[in-house]
Amino acid sequence: MAFDFRSLQAAMEINSYTLNKSGVDAYGQLMQESLERLGLHCERFPREALGDHLYFTSPVVQGQPRLLLLGHLDTVFPPGTFEGFSEDDTWIYGPGACDMKGGNAIAVQALAAVQAQAGGLANIDVLLVSDEEKGSDDSRPLTRQLATAYSYCMDFEAAGLNHEVVIGRKGIGTFTIDCTGKAAHAGNHYADGHNANLAAARIVEALIGLTDLKQGTTVNPGKMKGGIGANTISPSASIQLELRFTQIEERDRVLAALDDIVAHTWVPGVTQTLSGNLQREVMAPTEAQQAWLKTLNQLLGITLPTESRGGVSDANEMAHMGVTTLDGWGPFGDGDHSVNERALKSSFERRLEEVTKVLASFNAYALV
Ligand SMILES: [Zn+2]
Repeated sequence: MAFDFRSLQAAMEINSYTLNKSGVDAYGQLMQESLERLGLHCERFPREALGDHLYFTSPVVQGQPRLLLLGHLDTVFPPGTFEGFSEDDTWIYGPGACDMKGGNAIAVQALAAVQAQAGGLANIDVLLVSDEEKGSDDSRPLTRQLATAYSYCMDFEAAGLNHEVVIGRKGIGTFTIDCTGKAAHAGNHYADGHNANLAAARIVEALIGLTDLKQGTTVNPGKMKGGIGANTISPSASIQLELRFTQIEERDRVLAALDDIVAHTWVPGVTQTLSGNLQREVMAPTEAQQAWLKTLNQLLGITLPTESRGGVSDANEMAHMGVTTLDGWGPFGDGDHSVNERALKSSFERRLEEVTKVLASFNAYALV
């Protein structure tokens, strides 16, 4: 199927950095116009400092499965850092090419094709949030609340190199451990000090020891600071760490271990506190997802390749809420989150054809 790159170009020429509210809203406006043209109803969730979240609904036919198409309106590029659209015979280049204005455009164009075939749409809705690139802290409650109405979700983040769809994504949490000791002059009162840097050094080793690559669990104490100067026993230190996990059991193992680590005495006189939280729950492969894939493979007449990823997306939220979710329905691209972002042109046509067939299988308009 022919993909319309000109409407995507117009979308990519708008800067929609997460914190550029007017830009995110301007791109949202384009999406709203396209989707309202297909008969979808737009519900707006206004935000003051962020772009508005947009939720588009079609009529509901009870007793038939409902599908949610998921996307985000924001990109990671502040104004002036990476702007515009360019192309050659093989690729398109620019912010959002594959992350994820390209994917959003595939969703809209597939919906348009299904609408044209069937005369209308039902049981297929679209949610576009404005803050995914900052971790979806604002949109998370909304996404989770809306999720309860759906049995299936397709997220339009970029496809894998061989057009894989994404069946699993790691969960992620970020934490800080603060160590508090006691300062003392390193020359005159060395023995009076309680060295927070020493405690932090021992804790870093313990944290790295929690990593279990076989289980897909990583604990990375990626940043630390401590002390005042070379002539003072360090009274304070802090460690920032990131946890990624593929299983709920592993999440719980590490969270319990973090509690133990801060309660332990690593250096007499030094105490620790833990702050931070989980940002994303794990998206783990499920049997329902496998069953859906089997149905899709029959429908499309191919075997959709699948993959799990270490990175997170809003698909994590849907999966956490028990919605059968597949991500990676966007085009193949690379260089995302860098000025080298691009997407493969042929990939758009392939995905558009696949997604159109999938959406047609959910469209309940004939039963309205
Ligand atoms: Zn991204």
